[in-house]
Amino acid sequence: MERPASVVKELLENAVDAGANTITIATEGAGQRLIEVADDGGGISPEDLLMAVERHATSKLQSAEDLFNITTLGFRGEALASIGSVSRLSLTSRRSDEQAGARLKVEGGKVTGVETAGAPVGTVVRVEDLFYNVPARRKFLKADVTERRQIDELVTRYALAYPDIRFKLTQEGRPAVQTSGNGDRREVLAALYGVEIARQMLEVLFEDDRLSISGFISPTSLTRSNRKEITFFVNGRPVHDPALSAALLKGYHTLLMVGRYPLAVLFIEMAPQSVDVNVHPAKAEVRFREPDRVFTGVQAAVRRALLAHTPIPGIEPRAPGFPEPWSAPSPARRQDPDPAWSVWDEWNNTSGSDAGAEDLDTAPIATPEINLPAAQPDLPARGASLLRLIGQIAATYLVAEGPDGLYLVDQHAAHERVLFERFMAQRNGVIPSQALLQPAAVDLPPAAARLLEGQLSVLDRLGFEIEPFGSSTFLVRAMPALLTGGDPAAAVRTLVEDFEEDETPLGAEVEARIIARVCKRAAVKAGQVLSTEEQRSLLHDLESCQSPRTCPHGRPTMIHLSVDLLERQFGRKGAR
Ligand code: ADP
Ligand code: MG
Repeated sequence: MERPASVVKELLENAVDAGANTITIATEGAGQRLIEVADDGGGISPEDLLMAVERHATSKLQSAEDLFNITTLGFRGEALASIGSVSRLSLTSRRSDEQAGARLKVEGGKVTGVETAGAPVGTVVRVEDLFYNVPARRKFLKADVTERRQIDELVTRYALAYPDIRFKLTQEGRPAVQTSGNGDRREVLAALYGVEIARQMLEVLFEDDRLSISGFISPTSLTRSNRKEITFFVNGRPVHDPALSAALLKGYHTLLMVGRYPLAVLFIEMAPQSVDVNVHPAKAEVRFREPDRVFTGVQAAVRRALLAHTPIPGIEPRAPGFPEPWSAPSPARRQDPDPAWSVWDEWNNTSGSDAGAEDLDTAPIATPEINLPAAQPDLPARGASLLRLIGQIAATYLVAEGPDGLYLVDQHAAHERVLFERFMAQRNGVIPSQALLQPAAVDLPPAAARLLEGQLSVLDRLGFEIEPFGSSTFLVRAMPALLTGGDPAAAVRTLVEDFEEDETPLGAEVEARIIARVCKRAAVKAGQVLSTEEQRSLLHDLESCQSPRTCPHGRPTMIHLSVDLLERQFGRKGAR
């Protein structure tokens, strides 16, 4: 037992083993003050109650052979005993065939009381003051948000694995996970990833005489920069097995960009004898009797699901679902043309695009009076600084000379682009986060608070450390290093306003979108006077971008007036 989530896992497994239809989990103090798991399963009779907390006492194996034929999640009889030794544990239970229930209390491993107790059928386990007697263990716990998130993820995964069970998780009195138990996995998926992604996920169904593989995988257009969203269950048990992930990735062979990973929740079922679950203390690893068969099965299952749903790449140069640099452009793919995402369009497709209705904090761009030539010459190659700064006008635009004429650069849009690309580049690793000297408190209306809460884990990945603090107040403890200097509370408010505005369930592209918003907020504004040095470095940074032509919301960052155009406008060349 290392952390609150490991306790929750064991208690959940016991409730599942007991045949529960409904499992209700409540935590307080990120699981350190209280973890309560209530189920309506078979219950424990008063005579057996003491045995339940004894080490190596399990009701789930009758004989030594049973160990090779495990059909329950628990089998070692260790969990309750070890939880009881590091907390104040109470176990209240009643079987349906008994009149009264009983309650047993254990403190730091010692039984402190057994009493008759009125109780509904089923079991309620309360774990209070976890690790109160093992301060060393407490020290290793992460920030409350992190511990809470782990519990959240754990419960959601079990909810997915057991769609027929109704799960309800409340953390600090606030609902975190809730499923209906109606057996619909896609519905649970929506609770885990949001409706949008749940709809996009592809169903996997594969069966041979020894193996069945089912679940969901993401289409190739929906990827992450890490493997965290890959989950395997083997016979109802979540397992970490790099070989299984490798098989999954092989199924995606050549369809994913290097460094991008799919989302997947796959359930592998096989006869209990063909898998050894007794190889890891937390039962998180398994050993297959025929590993190759399993891996080939996973690969085939994935390949099949992808082929059934994805157009074969290569026929159309930009088939939907075919990965592109910058990935995550699914909204644009689905409802083309979506101006907000035209940033992902090819460099030379964007000439003159005026898109970007989303970005309204600067005046709308007036269409230039002059006719821009349809094909604009390419900007200088990346890195080479070929734009020569002339100056700033209207405290809003930079003027520069390039090899082929004049460039007018919108300083706000340009800076947004620069910040956005830096952020996206960092996203592949760990986004550096900068702790605030003084945590900033943000008060939000309740609805906005819930929206923000739903995005905390994404924000956390992006380098924000924000934790709930009271019912609709949040504490901002850290910000992405790229963005420090601004007002943290204001930044968080902007994020939430944007969640509200858009109302779309935020999903796969959520990171990119949040990044784009945050960059918009952090970028220099129109009307801000910049020093020559600032102007020059902004220009240089913009030139080094991969897509310098547009801001992350698709508005142009620059207008180019070629020498040729100037000559014609001044009547020096060809009459028009
Ligand atoms: P294991 O699950 O490996 O058997 P545990 O220590 O988790 O060991 O639980 C010990 C025993 O307590 C179980 O074998 C089971 O008989 C009983 N038990 C624990 N939790 C429950 C529950 N929620 N409902 C019914 N019985 C339970
Ligand atoms: Mg158990």
